[in-house]
Amino acid sequence: MASEAKIASGGTLLSHNPATGELLAELECATPEEVRSAVLRAKTAQPQWQTTPVSERVALLRRFQNVLSERRDDVARLLCREAGKPVAEALATEVMVVLDAAQFCIRHAHEFLRDKPLPHGNIVMNIKRGKLVREPYGVIGIIAPWNYPFSIPAIETLGALVTGNAVVLKPSELTSLIALELRRILLAAGLPPDLMQVVVGEGPVGAALIESPIDKLIFTGSVGTGKRVGEAAARRLLPVVLELGGKDPMIVLDDANLEIATSGALWGAFMNAGQTCLSVERCYVHRTLYEPFLEMCKKKMARLRIGNGIDSEADIGPMIHERQLRIVEEHVNDAIQQGARLLAGGRRMTELGPNYYAPTLLADVTHDMRLMREETFGPVLPVAPFDSDEQAIDLANNSDFGLAASVWTRSRRRGEALAAKIKAGTVMLNDVISCFGIADAPHGGFKHSGIGRTHGELGLQEMVQIKYVDVDLLPGVRKPWWFGYGRPYQQAMEGFVDALFAVRWGARLKGLLRSVGLLRHPNRI
Ligand code: NDP
Repeated sequence: MASEAKIASGGTLLSHNPATGELLAELECATPEEVRSAVLRAKTAQPQWQTTPVSERVALLRRFQNVLSERRDDVARLLCREAGKPVAEALATEVMVVLDAAQFCIRHAHEFLRDKPLPHGNIVMNIKRGKLVREPYGVIGIIAPWNYPFSIPAIETLGALVTGNAVVLKPSELTSLIALELRRILLAAGLPPDLMQVVVGEGPVGAALIESPIDKLIFTGSVGTGKRVGEAAARRLLPVVLELGGKDPMIVLDDANLEIATSGALWGAFMNAGQTCLSVERCYVHRTLYEPFLEMCKKKMARLRIGNGIDSEADIGPMIHERQLRIVEEHVNDAIQQGARLLAGGRRMTELGPNYYAPTLLADVTHDMRLMREETFGPVLPVAPFDSDEQAIDLANNSDFGLAASVWTRSRRRGEALAAKIKAGTVMLNDVISCFGIADAPHGGFKHSGIGRTHGELGLQEMVQIKYVDVDLLPGVRKPWWFGYGRPYQQAMEGFVDALFAVRWGARLKGLLRSVGLLRHPNRI
Protein backbone atom coordinates (compact mmCIF):
# COMPACT_ATOMS: atom_id res chain seq x y z
CA MET A 1 0.00 0.00 0.00
CA ALA A 2 2.88 2.32 0.81
CA SER A 3 3.97 2.13 -2.82
CA GLU A 4 0.67 3.44 -4.12
CA ALA A 5 0.26 6.93 -5.46
CA LYS A 6 -3.37 7.89 -5.03
CA ILE A 7 -5.70 10.74 -4.39
CA ALA A 8 -5.99 11.35 -0.67
CA SER A 9 -8.89 13.37 0.71
CA GLY A 10 -8.69 17.03 -0.20
CA GLY A 11 -7.53 16.38 -3.74
CA THR A 12 -3.91 15.61 -2.89
CA LEU A 13 -1.81 13.25 -4.98
CA LEU A 14 0.84 11.12 -3.31
CA SER A 15 3.86 10.16 -5.38
CA HIS A 16 5.88 7.15 -4.21
CA ASN A 17 9.06 5.36 -5.18
CA PRO A 18 7.87 1.99 -6.55
CA ALA A 19 11.13 0.29 -5.51
CA THR A 20 10.95 1.22 -1.84
CA GLY A 21 7.52 2.66 -1.12
CA GLU A 22 9.17 5.92 0.01
CA LEU A 23 6.85 8.95 -0.22
CA LEU A 24 8.41 11.35 -2.71
CA ALA A 25 5.92 14.19 -2.76
CA GLU A 26 2.41 15.33 -2.02
CA LEU A 27 0.87 17.34 -4.86
CA GLU A 28 -2.33 19.36 -5.22
CA CYS A 29 -4.65 17.98 -7.91
CA ALA A 30 -6.07 20.38 -10.46
CA THR A 31 -9.81 21.01 -10.30
CA PRO A 32 -11.83 21.13 -13.56
CA GLU A 33 -11.88 24.95 -13.24
CA GLU A 34 -8.09 25.02 -12.90
CA VAL A 35 -7.73 22.81 -15.97
CA ARG A 36 -9.93 25.20 -17.92
CA SER A 37 -8.03 28.25 -16.69
CA ALA A 38 -4.71 26.66 -17.70
CA VAL A 39 -6.06 26.05 -21.21
CA LEU A 40 -7.41 29.60 -21.46
CA ARG A 41 -4.01 31.02 -20.41
CA ALA A 42 -2.37 28.85 -23.07
CA LYS A 43 -4.91 30.06 -25.63
CA THR A 44 -4.07 33.67 -24.82
CA ALA A 45 -0.31 33.11 -25.09
CA GLN A 46 -0.34 30.96 -28.24
CA PRO A 47 -1.07 33.50 -31.02
CA GLN A 48 2.12 35.43 -30.29
CA TRP A 49 4.11 32.19 -30.24
CA GLN A 50 2.61 31.25 -33.61
CA THR A 51 3.95 34.48 -35.12
CA THR A 52 7.36 34.09 -33.48
CA PRO A 53 9.84 33.26 -36.29
CA VAL A 54 10.59 29.54 -36.64
CA SER A 55 14.27 30.32 -36.03
CA GLU A 56 13.41 31.56 -32.51
CA ARG A 57 11.29 28.51 -31.77
CA VAL A 58 14.15 26.32 -32.98
CA ALA A 59 16.57 28.30 -30.80
CA LEU A 60 14.37 27.51 -27.80
CA LEU A 61 14.66 23.80 -28.58
CA ARG A 62 18.46 24.14 -28.78
CA ARG A 63 18.51 25.72 -25.33
CA PHE A 64 16.17 22.96 -24.10
CA GLN A 65 18.69 20.40 -25.41
CA ASN A 66 21.50 22.17 -23.56
CA VAL A 67 19.63 22.35 -20.26
CA LEU A 68 18.52 18.72 -20.51
CA SER A 69 22.00 17.58 -21.38
CA GLU A 70 23.36 19.37 -18.29
CA ARG A 71 20.61 17.92 -16.07
CA ARG A 72 20.64 14.46 -17.66
CA ASP A 73 21.73 12.61 -14.51
CA ASP A 74 19.13 14.33 -12.31
CA VAL A 75 16.39 13.51 -14.81
CA ALA A 76 17.52 9.88 -15.08
CA ARG A 77 17.62 9.55 -11.29
CA LEU A 78 14.15 11.05 -10.97
CA LEU A 79 12.91 8.57 -13.58
CA CYS A 80 14.41 5.83 -11.45
CA ARG A 81 12.92 7.13 -8.23
CA GLU A 82 9.39 7.81 -9.49
CA ALA A 83 9.00 5.19 -12.27
CA GLY A 84 11.41 2.50 -11.04
CA LYS A 85 13.58 2.14 -14.14
CA PRO A 86 17.35 1.56 -13.93
CA VAL A 87 19.31 4.81 -14.36
CA ALA A 88 21.22 3.52 -17.42
CA GLU A 89 17.92 2.54 -19.05
CA ALA A 90 16.39 5.93 -18.21
CA LEU A 91 19.34 7.61 -19.92
CA ALA A 92 19.08 5.41 -23.03
CA THR A 93 15.31 5.15 -23.49
CA GLU A 94 14.14 8.49 -22.15
CA VAL A 95 16.80 11.21 -21.92
CA MET A 96 18.72 10.34 -25.07
CA VAL A 97 15.55 9.72 -27.07
CA VAL A 98 14.28 13.20 -26.13
CA LEU A 99 17.60 14.88 -26.98
CA ASP A 100 17.46 13.17 -30.36
CA ALA A 101 13.82 14.15 -30.93
CA ALA A 102 14.78 17.77 -30.19
CA GLN A 103 17.58 17.42 -32.74
CA PHE A 104 15.06 16.13 -35.30
CA CYS A 105 12.84 19.18 -34.78
CA ILE A 106 15.81 21.55 -34.89
CA ARG A 107 16.99 20.00 -38.16
CA HIS A 108 13.64 19.72 -39.92
CA ALA A 109 11.30 22.43 -38.58
CA HIS A 110 12.21 25.07 -41.18
CA GLU A 111 11.70 22.77 -44.14
CA PHE A 112 8.57 21.19 -42.66
CA LEU A 113 6.91 24.54 -41.99
CA ARG A 114 7.88 26.14 -45.31
CA ASP A 115 4.88 26.78 -47.60
CA LYS A 116 4.80 24.14 -50.36
CA PRO A 117 3.66 25.00 -53.91
CA LEU A 118 0.91 22.72 -55.18
CA PRO A 119 1.03 22.26 -58.97
CA HIS A 120 -2.35 21.78 -60.63
CA GLY A 121 -3.05 18.85 -62.95
CA ASN A 122 -6.19 20.39 -64.44
CA ILE A 123 -5.32 22.54 -67.46
CA VAL A 124 -8.04 25.12 -66.73
CA MET A 125 -6.86 25.61 -63.16
CA ASN A 126 -3.42 26.59 -64.38
CA ILE A 127 -4.63 30.15 -64.27
CA LYS A 128 -4.13 29.77 -60.53
CA ARG A 129 -1.17 29.11 -58.25
CA GLY A 130 -1.81 27.05 -55.13
CA LYS A 131 0.25 26.41 -52.02
CA LEU A 132 -0.04 24.37 -48.83
CA VAL A 133 0.44 26.25 -45.58
CA ARG A 134 0.89 24.47 -42.24
CA GLU A 135 -0.79 26.20 -39.34
CA PRO A 136 -0.68 25.19 -35.67
CA TYR A 137 -3.92 23.98 -34.08
CA GLY A 138 -3.61 26.31 -31.09
CA VAL A 139 -3.54 24.45 -27.78
CA ILE A 140 -2.56 20.79 -27.85
CA GLY A 141 -3.74 18.71 -24.89
CA ILE A 142 -1.44 15.81 -24.06
CA ILE A 143 -2.53 12.93 -21.83
CA ALA A 144 0.42 10.68 -21.04
CA PRO A 145 1.01 7.28 -19.40
CA TRP A 146 3.48 6.36 -16.65
CA ASN A 147 5.69 3.90 -18.51
CA TYR A 148 7.73 6.46 -20.51
CA PRO A 149 6.75 9.46 -18.42
CA PHE A 150 9.48 11.73 -19.79
CA SER A 151 10.05 10.76 -23.41
CA ILE A 152 6.41 10.41 -24.50
CA PRO A 153 5.14 13.82 -23.33
CA ALA A 154 8.48 15.50 -24.14
CA ILE A 155 8.58 14.33 -27.77
CA GLU A 156 4.97 15.44 -28.27
CA THR A 157 5.53 18.75 -26.49
CA LEU A 158 8.62 19.60 -28.56
CA GLY A 159 6.76 18.86 -31.80
CA ALA A 160 3.80 20.96 -30.66
CA LEU A 161 5.94 23.92 -29.61
CA VAL A 162 8.19 24.04 -32.64
CA THR A 163 5.13 24.12 -34.90
CA GLY A 164 3.71 27.09 -32.97
CA ASN A 165 1.26 25.46 -30.55
CA ALA A 166 0.88 25.78 -26.78
CA VAL A 167 0.63 22.65 -24.62
CA VAL A 168 -1.32 21.55 -21.56
CA LEU A 169 -0.08 18.19 -20.27
CA LYS A 170 -1.92 15.79 -17.98
CA PRO A 171 0.60 13.17 -16.83
CA SER A 172 -0.25 9.85 -15.23
CA GLU A 173 -1.03 10.25 -11.55
CA LEU A 174 1.92 7.89 -10.89
CA THR A 175 4.56 10.08 -12.53
CA SER A 176 3.67 13.75 -11.97
CA LEU A 177 7.10 14.79 -10.69
CA ILE A 178 8.74 13.80 -13.97
CA ALA A 179 6.22 15.85 -15.97
CA LEU A 180 6.83 18.85 -13.71
CA GLU A 181 10.57 18.43 -14.28
CA LEU A 182 9.99 18.51 -18.06
CA ARG A 183 8.22 21.84 -17.64
CA ARG A 184 11.00 23.20 -15.43
CA ILE A 185 13.57 22.37 -18.13
CA LEU A 186 11.50 24.14 -20.80
CA LEU A 187 11.13 27.22 -18.61
CA ALA A 188 14.86 27.20 -17.85
CA ALA A 189 15.36 27.21 -21.63
CA GLY A 190 13.31 30.41 -21.81
CA LEU A 191 9.81 29.22 -22.75
CA PRO A 192 7.08 31.64 -21.61
CA PRO A 193 5.32 29.77 -18.74
CA ASP A 194 1.80 29.79 -20.21
CA LEU A 195 2.94 27.94 -23.33
CA MET A 196 3.51 24.69 -21.45
CA GLN A 197 1.51 23.85 -18.37
CA VAL A 198 1.05 20.67 -16.39
CA VAL A 199 -2.26 19.76 -14.76
CA VAL A 200 -1.75 17.12 -12.11
CA GLY A 201 -4.32 14.54 -11.08
CA GLU A 202 -6.07 11.25 -11.84
CA GLY A 203 -8.30 10.25 -14.77
CA PRO A 204 -10.98 12.92 -14.11
CA VAL A 205 -8.35 15.61 -14.70
CA GLY A 206 -7.75 14.03 -18.12
CA ALA A 207 -11.50 14.00 -18.72
CA ALA A 208 -11.67 17.70 -17.76
CA LEU A 209 -8.87 18.45 -20.24
CA ILE A 210 -10.90 16.82 -23.03
CA GLU A 211 -13.91 18.97 -22.10
CA SER A 212 -11.78 22.14 -21.96
CA PRO A 213 -11.29 24.30 -25.08
CA ILE A 214 -8.12 22.53 -26.31
CA ASP A 215 -7.85 22.30 -30.10
CA LYS A 216 -6.36 18.80 -30.42
CA LEU A 217 -5.57 15.91 -28.12
CA ILE A 218 -2.63 13.51 -28.21
CA PHE A 219 -3.50 10.60 -25.93
CA THR A 220 -1.22 7.72 -25.00
CA GLY A 221 -2.52 4.92 -22.81
CA SER A 222 -4.46 1.68 -22.72
CA VAL A 223 -7.09 0.60 -25.25
CA GLY A 224 -9.84 0.75 -22.60
CA THR A 225 -9.14 4.35 -21.64
CA GLY A 226 -8.40 5.21 -25.27
CA LYS A 227 -11.93 4.16 -26.28
CA ARG A 228 -13.46 6.33 -23.56
CA VAL A 229 -11.24 9.24 -24.56
CA GLY A 230 -12.14 8.74 -28.24
CA GLU A 231 -15.86 8.80 -27.40
CA ALA A 232 -15.56 11.96 -25.30
CA ALA A 233 -13.50 13.66 -28.01
CA ALA A 234 -15.97 12.64 -30.73
CA ARG A 235 -18.84 14.27 -28.80
CA ARG A 236 -17.19 17.66 -29.31
CA LEU A 237 -15.45 16.78 -32.64
CA LEU A 238 -12.04 17.22 -31.07
CA PRO A 239 -9.29 15.86 -33.33
CA VAL A 240 -7.29 13.13 -31.58
CA VAL A 241 -4.25 10.96 -31.91
CA LEU A 242 -4.60 7.74 -29.94
CA GLU A 243 -1.41 5.82 -29.12
CA LEU A 244 -2.71 2.68 -27.45
CA GLY A 245 -1.59 -0.71 -26.24
CA GLY A 246 0.30 -3.48 -27.98
CA LYS A 247 0.66 -7.26 -27.93
CA ASP A 248 3.75 -7.36 -30.08
CA PRO A 249 4.76 -10.67 -31.65
CA MET A 250 8.39 -11.76 -32.11
CA ILE A 251 8.90 -14.35 -34.85
CA VAL A 252 12.10 -16.40 -34.75
CA LEU A 253 12.59 -18.13 -38.12
CA ASP A 254 14.52 -21.37 -38.54
CA ASP A 255 17.60 -19.53 -39.91
CA ALA A 256 17.78 -17.03 -37.02
CA ASN A 257 20.96 -16.47 -35.01
CA LEU A 258 19.91 -18.11 -31.74
CA GLU A 259 22.47 -16.29 -29.62
CA ILE A 260 21.25 -12.89 -30.86
CA ALA A 261 17.54 -13.77 -30.89
CA THR A 262 17.53 -14.99 -27.28
CA SER A 263 19.32 -11.87 -26.00
CA GLY A 264 16.91 -9.72 -28.03
CA ALA A 265 13.90 -11.60 -26.65
CA LEU A 266 14.99 -11.07 -23.05
CA TRP A 267 15.61 -7.35 -23.50
CA GLY A 268 12.39 -7.00 -25.51
CA ALA A 269 10.29 -8.75 -22.87
CA PHE A 270 11.92 -7.51 -19.64
CA MET A 271 13.21 -3.99 -20.38
CA ASN A 272 11.43 -1.48 -18.10
CA ALA A 273 10.10 -4.57 -16.27
CA GLY A 274 8.10 -5.44 -19.40
CA GLN A 275 6.09 -2.23 -19.16
CA THR A 276 6.67 -1.00 -22.69
CA CYS A 277 3.98 -0.64 -25.33
CA LEU A 278 6.47 -2.21 -27.79
CA SER A 279 7.47 -5.09 -25.46
CA VAL A 280 7.74 -8.61 -26.82
CA GLU A 281 4.40 -9.91 -25.52
CA ARG A 282 4.22 -13.03 -27.70
CA CYS A 283 7.18 -15.03 -28.96
CA TYR A 284 6.83 -17.60 -31.76
CA VAL A 285 9.85 -19.82 -32.46
CA HIS A 286 10.31 -22.25 -35.36
CA ARG A 287 9.94 -25.79 -34.03
CA THR A 288 13.49 -26.76 -35.04
CA LEU A 289 14.88 -24.05 -32.70
CA TYR A 290 12.15 -24.19 -30.06
CA GLU A 291 13.78 -26.22 -27.25
CA PRO A 292 17.31 -24.77 -27.76
CA PHE A 293 15.74 -21.27 -27.71
CA LEU A 294 13.98 -21.97 -24.41
CA GLU A 295 17.09 -23.54 -22.91
CA MET A 296 19.28 -20.58 -23.90
CA CYS A 297 16.73 -18.03 -22.61
CA LYS A 298 16.55 -19.85 -19.29
CA LYS A 299 20.34 -19.90 -18.93
CA LYS A 300 20.67 -16.20 -19.76
CA MET A 301 17.81 -15.27 -17.42
CA ALA A 302 19.74 -16.72 -14.50
CA ARG A 303 22.27 -13.92 -15.07
CA LEU A 304 19.71 -11.08 -14.96
CA ARG A 305 20.00 -8.92 -11.84
CA ILE A 306 16.77 -7.66 -10.32
CA GLY A 307 16.83 -4.73 -7.90
CA ASN A 308 16.47 -1.02 -7.29
CA GLY A 309 17.56 0.70 -10.50
CA ILE A 310 19.43 3.36 -8.55
CA ASP A 311 22.04 0.63 -8.10
CA SER A 312 24.01 0.57 -11.38
CA GLU A 313 24.26 -3.23 -11.24
CA ALA A 314 20.48 -3.83 -11.61
CA ASP A 315 19.13 -4.87 -15.03
CA ILE A 316 15.46 -4.92 -14.07
CA GLY A 317 13.70 -2.73 -11.54
CA PRO A 318 10.28 -3.01 -9.88
CA MET A 319 6.95 -2.73 -11.61
CA ILE A 320 5.25 0.63 -11.23
CA HIS A 321 2.35 -0.36 -9.02
CA GLU A 322 0.61 -3.17 -7.19
CA ARG A 323 -2.39 -3.13 -9.56
CA GLN A 324 -0.10 -3.73 -12.58
CA LEU A 325 1.54 -6.60 -10.73
CA ARG A 326 -1.85 -8.20 -10.09
CA ILE A 327 -2.67 -8.24 -13.83
CA VAL A 328 0.63 -10.01 -14.54
CA GLU A 329 -0.03 -12.55 -11.80
CA GLU A 330 -3.52 -13.26 -13.16
CA HIS A 331 -2.22 -13.79 -16.71
CA VAL A 332 0.61 -16.09 -15.58
CA ASN A 333 -1.65 -18.16 -13.31
CA ASP A 334 -4.31 -18.51 -16.00
CA ALA A 335 -1.66 -19.68 -18.51
CA ILE A 336 -0.23 -22.26 -16.09
CA GLN A 337 -3.71 -23.56 -15.27
CA GLN A 338 -4.33 -24.02 -19.00
CA GLY A 339 -1.16 -26.04 -19.53
CA ALA A 340 1.69 -23.56 -20.08
CA ARG A 341 5.11 -24.78 -18.87
CA LEU A 342 6.71 -22.44 -16.31
CA LEU A 343 10.48 -22.47 -16.91
CA ALA A 344 11.53 -19.51 -14.77
CA GLY A 345 10.06 -16.86 -12.46
CA GLY A 346 6.30 -16.79 -11.97
CA ARG A 347 6.39 -15.19 -8.50
CA ARG A 348 6.57 -11.91 -6.65
CA MET A 349 9.94 -10.99 -5.16
CA THR A 350 8.72 -9.45 -1.91
CA GLU A 351 12.20 -9.90 -0.46
CA LEU A 352 13.33 -7.00 -2.70
CA GLY A 353 10.50 -4.53 -2.11
CA PRO A 354 6.80 -3.91 -2.70
CA ASN A 355 6.47 -4.17 -6.50
CA TYR A 356 8.99 -6.70 -7.78
CA TYR A 357 7.98 -9.56 -10.05
CA ALA A 358 10.51 -12.17 -11.18
CA PRO A 359 11.23 -12.27 -14.93
CA THR A 360 9.11 -15.16 -16.15
CA LEU A 361 9.57 -17.64 -18.99
CA LEU A 362 6.54 -19.67 -20.11
CA ALA A 363 6.57 -22.30 -22.86
CA ASP A 364 3.77 -24.02 -24.81
CA VAL A 365 1.41 -21.07 -24.53
CA THR A 366 -1.70 -20.90 -26.75
CA HIS A 367 -4.11 -18.21 -27.88
CA ASP A 368 -6.74 -19.59 -25.48
CA MET A 369 -4.76 -17.99 -22.67
CA ARG A 370 -5.30 -14.35 -21.61
CA LEU A 371 -1.52 -14.01 -21.69
CA MET A 372 -1.62 -14.28 -25.50
CA ARG A 373 -4.69 -12.12 -26.11
CA GLU A 374 -4.65 -9.25 -23.59
CA GLU A 375 -1.83 -6.82 -22.88
CA THR A 376 0.13 -8.27 -19.93
CA PHE A 377 2.53 -5.34 -19.48
CA GLY A 378 4.98 -7.08 -17.18
CA PRO A 379 8.23 -9.08 -17.22
CA VAL A 380 6.85 -12.18 -18.94
CA LEU A 381 8.15 -13.97 -22.06
CA PRO A 382 5.53 -16.42 -23.39
CA VAL A 383 6.85 -18.73 -26.12
CA ALA A 384 5.04 -21.00 -28.60
CA PRO A 385 6.34 -23.10 -31.53
CA PHE A 386 5.36 -22.82 -35.21
CA ASP A 387 6.07 -24.94 -38.29
CA SER A 388 5.98 -22.63 -41.32
CA ASP A 389 6.34 -18.94 -42.22
CA GLU A 390 2.63 -18.85 -43.13
CA GLN A 391 1.64 -20.20 -39.72
CA ALA A 392 3.90 -17.64 -38.01
CA ILE A 393 2.18 -14.81 -39.89
CA ASP A 394 -1.28 -16.17 -39.02
CA LEU A 395 -0.32 -16.35 -35.33
CA ALA A 396 1.23 -12.87 -35.35
CA ASN A 397 -1.86 -11.35 -37.00
CA ASN A 398 -4.27 -13.25 -34.74
CA SER A 399 -4.65 -10.31 -32.34
CA ASP A 400 -6.79 -7.21 -31.85
CA PHE A 401 -3.56 -5.22 -31.48
CA GLY A 402 -1.16 -4.09 -34.19
CA LEU A 403 1.46 -1.80 -32.71
CA ALA A 404 4.75 -3.45 -33.74
CA ALA A 405 6.33 -6.84 -34.49
CA SER A 406 9.78 -8.27 -35.04
CA VAL A 407 11.15 -10.97 -37.35
CA TRP A 408 14.46 -12.68 -36.63
CA THR A 409 16.24 -14.22 -39.61
CA ARG A 410 19.60 -14.22 -41.38
CA SER A 411 17.81 -13.54 -44.69
CA ARG A 412 16.84 -9.92 -45.23
CA ARG A 413 14.67 -10.85 -48.21
CA ARG A 414 12.73 -13.44 -46.20
CA GLY A 415 12.35 -11.00 -43.30
CA GLU A 416 11.01 -8.26 -45.54
CA ALA A 417 8.60 -10.71 -47.18
CA LEU A 418 7.15 -11.50 -43.75
CA ALA A 419 7.15 -7.82 -42.75
CA ALA A 420 4.90 -7.09 -45.74
CA LYS A 421 2.28 -9.53 -44.42
CA ILE A 422 2.26 -8.53 -40.75
CA LYS A 423 -0.48 -6.11 -39.73
CA ALA A 424 1.37 -3.67 -37.49
CA GLY A 425 2.49 -0.05 -37.49
CA THR A 426 6.16 -1.07 -37.30
CA VAL A 427 8.01 -4.28 -38.15
CA MET A 428 11.64 -4.58 -37.10
CA LEU A 429 14.07 -7.16 -38.49
CA ASN A 430 16.49 -8.57 -35.90
CA ASP A 431 15.76 -6.01 -33.20
CA VAL A 432 12.93 -4.88 -30.92
CA ILE A 433 11.63 -1.65 -29.37
CA SER A 434 14.57 0.50 -30.54
CA CYS A 435 12.43 1.93 -33.39
CA PHE A 436 11.02 4.20 -30.68
CA GLY A 437 14.46 5.79 -30.41
CA ILE A 438 14.69 6.63 -34.12
CA ALA A 439 13.50 10.24 -34.11
CA ASP A 440 12.70 10.17 -37.85
CA ALA A 441 10.59 6.99 -37.72
CA PRO A 442 6.81 7.31 -37.27
CA HIS A 443 5.33 5.61 -34.22
CA GLY A 444 1.75 4.33 -34.08
CA GLY A 445 -0.42 1.30 -34.53
CA PHE A 446 -2.83 -0.63 -36.71
CA LYS A 447 -6.14 -2.05 -35.38
CA HIS A 448 -6.83 -1.38 -31.68
CA SER A 449 -3.31 -0.06 -31.16
CA GLY A 450 -4.40 3.38 -32.19
CA ILE A 451 -5.10 6.16 -34.61
CA GLY A 452 -2.53 8.60 -36.01
CA ARG A 453 1.22 8.82 -35.56
CA THR A 454 3.75 10.49 -33.31
CA HIS A 455 7.51 11.00 -33.95
CA GLY A 456 9.22 12.13 -37.13
CA GLU A 457 7.62 14.13 -39.89
CA LEU A 458 4.29 12.31 -39.54
CA GLY A 459 4.28 13.25 -35.85
CA LEU A 460 4.84 16.93 -36.72
CA GLN A 461 2.06 16.62 -39.27
CA GLU A 462 -0.36 15.81 -36.43
CA MET A 463 0.45 19.16 -34.80
CA VAL A 464 -0.65 21.31 -37.75
CA GLN A 465 -3.70 21.91 -39.88
CA ILE A 466 -3.24 22.17 -43.61
CA LYS A 467 -4.46 25.33 -45.20
CA TYR A 468 -4.66 25.54 -48.99
CA VAL A 469 -4.08 29.06 -50.32
CA ASP A 470 -5.06 29.71 -53.92
CA VAL A 471 -4.03 32.77 -55.94
CA ASP A 472 -5.74 33.67 -59.24
CA LEU A 473 -3.28 34.86 -61.88
CA LEU A 474 -6.01 36.63 -63.91
CA PRO A 475 -7.81 38.55 -61.20
CA GLY A 476 -9.43 40.93 -63.71
CA VAL A 477 -11.17 38.15 -65.65
CA ARG A 478 -14.66 36.86 -64.89
CA LYS A 479 -14.57 33.05 -64.76
CA PRO A 480 -16.39 31.14 -67.52
CA TRP A 481 -18.02 28.82 -64.95
CA TRP A 482 -19.74 31.65 -63.05
CA PHE A 483 -23.49 32.50 -63.40
CA GLY A 484 -25.16 33.22 -66.66
CA TYR A 485 -26.21 29.68 -67.69
CA GLY A 486 -28.53 28.95 -70.63
CA ARG A 487 -28.94 26.47 -73.49
CA PRO A 488 -25.88 27.62 -75.54
CA TYR A 489 -23.82 27.74 -72.40
CA GLN A 490 -24.87 24.20 -71.42
CA GLN A 491 -23.94 22.89 -74.89
CA ALA A 492 -20.57 24.61 -74.70
CA MET A 493 -20.01 23.04 -71.28
CA GLU A 494 -20.86 19.58 -72.73
CA GLY A 495 -18.25 20.24 -75.39
CA PHE A 496 -15.74 21.26 -72.77
CA VAL A 497 -16.26 18.07 -70.73
CA ASP A 498 -15.78 16.07 -73.98
CA ALA A 499 -12.68 18.07 -74.87
CA LEU A 500 -11.06 17.02 -71.63
CA PHE A 501 -12.40 13.52 -71.02
CA ALA A 502 -14.11 11.96 -74.11
CA VAL A 503 -12.88 8.43 -74.81
CA ARG A 504 -12.23 9.01 -78.55
CA TRP A 505 -9.84 11.66 -79.81
CA GLY A 506 -12.30 12.73 -82.51
CA ALA A 507 -14.94 13.49 -79.88
CA ARG A 508 -12.37 15.48 -77.90
CA LEU A 509 -11.58 17.64 -80.94
CA LYS A 510 -15.27 18.26 -81.63
CA GLY A 511 -15.80 19.04 -77.98
CA LEU A 512 -12.99 21.58 -78.05
CA LEU A 513 -14.63 23.44 -80.93
CA ARG A 514 -18.01 23.48 -79.15
CA SER A 515 -16.48 24.64 -75.89
CA VAL A 516 -15.42 27.95 -77.43
CA GLY A 517 -18.97 29.05 -76.62
CA LEU A 518 -17.97 29.24 -72.97
CA LEU A 519 -15.83 32.26 -73.72
CA ARG A 520 -18.74 34.06 -75.35
CA HIS A 521 -21.05 33.30 -72.47
CA PRO A 522 -23.70 35.91 -73.49
CA ASN A 523 -25.73 35.88 -70.23
CA ARG A 524 -22.72 36.55 -67.99
CA ILE A 525 -23.60 38.03 -64.61
P1 NDP B 1 -4.12 4.41 -18.92
O1 NDP B 1 -4.96 4.22 -20.10
O2 NDP B 1 -4.56 3.84 -17.63
O3 NDP B 1 -3.87 5.96 -18.65
C1 NDP B 1 -3.31 6.82 -19.62
C2 NDP B 1 -3.56 8.25 -19.21
O4 NDP B 1 -4.96 8.53 -19.31
C3 NDP B 1 -3.18 8.56 -17.78
O5 NDP B 1 -2.65 9.86 -17.68
C4 NDP B 1 -4.50 8.46 -17.06
O6 NDP B 1 -4.53 9.15 -15.85
C5 NDP B 1 -5.41 9.09 -18.09
N1 NDP B 1 -6.84 8.81 -17.92
C6 NDP B 1 -7.44 7.82 -17.22
N2 NDP B 1 -8.79 7.88 -17.36
C7 NDP B 1 -9.05 8.93 -18.17
C8 NDP B 1 -10.24 9.51 -18.69
N3 NDP B 1 -11.45 9.01 -18.42
N4 NDP B 1 -10.14 10.58 -19.51
C9 NDP B 1 -8.93 11.09 -19.82
N5 NDP B 1 -7.76 10.59 -19.34
C10 NDP B 1 -7.81 9.52 -18.54
O7 NDP B 1 -2.68 3.87 -19.32
P2 NDP B 1 -1.41 3.67 -18.39
O8 NDP B 1 -1.02 4.98 -17.79
O9 NDP B 1 -1.66 2.52 -17.49
O10 NDP B 1 -0.28 3.31 -19.46
C11 NDP B 1 -0.06 2.05 -19.94
C12 NDP B 1 -0.76 1.85 -21.27
O11 NDP B 1 -0.28 2.80 -22.21
C13 NDP B 1 -0.47 0.50 -21.89
O12 NDP B 1 -1.65 -0.01 -22.44
C14 NDP B 1 0.54 0.81 -22.97
O13 NDP B 1 0.58 -0.12 -24.02
C15 NDP B 1 0.06 2.15 -23.43
N6 NDP B 1 1.12 2.85 -24.10
C16 NDP B 1 1.04 3.03 -25.46
C17 NDP B 1 2.08 3.63 -26.14
C18 NDP B 1 2.00 3.87 -27.61
O14 NDP B 1 2.75 4.70 -28.09
N7 NDP B 1 1.16 3.21 -28.36
C19 NDP B 1 3.29 4.07 -25.45
C20 NDP B 1 3.26 3.84 -24.04
C21 NDP B 1 2.20 3.25 -23.40
P3 NDP B 1 -4.16 8.37 -14.49
O15 NDP B 1 -2.91 7.60 -14.75
O16 NDP B 1 -3.94 9.47 -13.54
O17 NDP B 1 -5.32 7.47 -14.20
